Amino acid sequence: MVGIYVPKRQFIEDLTEPQIEEIEKRMRPGSFLSSGFIGPSQTLREVIKADAQVLDQYGITYEQIADRLSFFMKLAFLEESNGASRLYCEGVPVDGHFKVFLHRSLGSISCPFFYSLVRDEKGFGREYTCWAGSCSFTVKNEQDQTEISFPSLIPHLVRDHHFFEGDVPGRLNPEDAIKVLEIKPGVDYSPPKPKEKPTSEPGNKGNWISLLLRFLRAPHP
Ligand SMILES: [Zn+2]
Repeated sequence: MVGIYVPKRQFIEDLTEPQIEEIEKRMRPGSFLSSGFIGPSQTLREVIKADAQVLDQYGITYEQIADRLSFFMKLAFLEESNGASRLYCEGVPVDGHFKVFLHRSLGSISCPFFYSLVRDEKGFGREYTCWAGSCSFTVKNEQDQTEISFPSLIPHLVRDHHFFEGDVPGRLNPEDAIKVLEIKPGVDYSPPKPKEKPTSEPGNKGNWISLLLRFLRAPHP
């Protein structure tokens, strides 16, 4: 089976009732996930609405939470890629009092918001989805001994669908995320933008080097 990513942002207010029903079917326990993305009697609309009120109450945005989660995930992936087993990483220290852990599972779970399986005449299938993930993460805040765990799909679900999952094991309670990761209103947690390349004009390059030399030669305390 070949998986193809089709990046998509889909929010509940832009979806029609039949589309929501289709997504809910994929989210029920036993479809994409044995434990599901929402409980058997929950609706997508009520789950998203309840979490939106929590974000409102704290003055925190979906982007802030997704950016903060992605920051910890990146550090765990980096550590994993340096390790021998490449299946997990245990306790990478971050910013003095956090630790992030990664565990990789064998199966990959596709995002239930957009999914399409297309088979050719030989029965060869192609899966189209907006995201898929096969890892889970735990971030511990060692200062107050709290922690959150979440599957790797969560930052995408939060950023691109405003969804934290329902009453199921994969849910990330937004209030817990805000507290454990110390997310503050108005703070930009997005990754730093790549710096503009210095121009290659000889005059500017010369100036840049002479400035650096001047700085290095200057007395420093
Ligand atoms: Zn998606």
